[in-house]
This record gives sequence, structure tokens and C-alpha cells, in this order.
Amino acid sequence: MKLPFEVIAMTVLLTAFLSTTNGAQARLMKPLERSAGGPVLGSGPVFDAEIAAPIKAQMLDDLAFIQSIQSNGSVTPFHQAIFGAVNGPSYYQWFTSRVLQVGKDDCGSANAVACVIPSVSDTKIWITDNYIKFSHPQIARLSVVYHEARHTESNHGNWAHATCPTPFVDDLGHEMRSIWTGASLSGEPACDVTPYGSYGSATIFLKNISKFCSNCSDKVKTDAGIYGDDQLNRITDGPSKAAMKNDFQTHLM
Ligand SMILES: [Zn+2]
Repeated sequence: MKLPFEVIAMTVLLTAFLSTTNGAQARLMKPLERSAGGPVLGSGPVFDAEIAAPIKAQMLDDLAFIQSIQSNGSVTPFHQAIFGAVNGPSYYQWFTSRVLQVGKDDCGSANAVACVIPSVSDTKIWITDNYIKFSHPQIARLSVVYHEARHTESNHGNWAHATCPTPFVDDLGHEMRSIWTGASLSGEPACDVTPYGSYGSATIFLKNISKFCSNCSDKVKTDAGIYGDDQLNRITDGPSKAAMKNDFQTHLM
């Protein structure tokens, strides 16, 4: 029997976040508990057999890249609190302690790249065929993967998105559109009101890699900065956005 999933928040056709209307039933249906019967933490996620080889290879390549990140130890306070240090072992431990399985799904949209379906599992992310059709930089794709991994945190309500304002404009007064699809974000469930949610944490991830990665190419650091600056505009609570801007000017060692 399939559960009737309800899309409660979707980052405008990119990263769908699905939930169910029946939490009790969802808990009974959950196939895997975080620490029971799954792979050993840190060993890397298990890919479902139906994931096409090129898609699995791309995701493994992306995870290999994130494991290669190095820094001189600098980190912002929000990043330290959420991810720890700016380096491969911290990033990989963070990811593999949350995501034990990777499945294949359409994530409820022809343009979706990945999603979490908490009613099925809070230790699994699902990727679509768009994962390898997606014409964005590798570090941006990784930020989507980390955005989704944040949604596995059922102890935080899976960090459900907030509704973007209507109208929705950036600091320069321009209409906010998705950097991923170009779609208008006005009134869409594609924002956050906290630095700690999926958009906020992915922004912090990108900005720290842009600022502090010591072995990334200039292109990776530039891409991380561009996408980080864009995603910061998804934080619609003024004090939270100001705290993040301040965080990005603060270096811990
Ligand atoms: Zn999301």
C-alpha cells in the first residue's frame, strides 16, 4: 500500500520535501531505524539497485569531492555549530550519520533533483534522473544534497520550509527567482526563517567553502560564493538573515 504523500514544501521544482498527513501510520511504515539494521555509520550510504549507474557514479564522485575539502581551520560560528570544521572528514561524517540510503524517485516534480520523504524514512534521500542532467556546478549540486540531508532531521520537524513573501524581492528590489529553475519564488514554500534549516545550513555550507577551502579551485570557490549569496536571499526573517551576514564576517580558528 502506498501512503498518500502530500507535498508540504517544495523548493520550486528543485528539491521536493514530501510528507504525509498521517504521522502515526508513517512511523509504522518506516523501514529502517537510524541505528538498527542499517549500515555502520560513516561507511557511506547504500544505493538502491534501481539507481542507474551513471547517477550513482556522479553522486559518489560528488561525495568523494566533498571528502577532499581542506582548510586552514578557519570556520564561521554557524558552520562550526552545524557542520563542525570546513574539511572533508567533518562533511562526510555529517552526511553519513544522517543519510544511510539513497533511493530513486521522481520527487513529485519533473524538475526535482532530490528529496526526502520523512513518512517513508528519515535516513534516506531520493534522487531523480535530473541529478546528472542538472546544469549547475558540482558544489551547487552538493549543496542540494546537503540541503536534503538536513531534511532528514525528524527531531527538528525535518526543518520544513517557510513560505516566501508576496511580493518577494532581494536587497536591490529585484524579484526573487529560483537560481535553479528561474521560477518566481513569490508565495512559494521555498524559504527559511532560521539559519539552521535546509536553506540556511546549505547557505552556510557554501559560504564557508567559498571563504575557507584551501585546496579548492578558484572556480569552486567562486561558484560556492555565487550560489551562497543567492540562497541567503531565501532567508526571509530579517534578524536571522542579519545574523548570517554577521556570521560570514566572523572567523573562528
Ligand atoms: Zn528543502
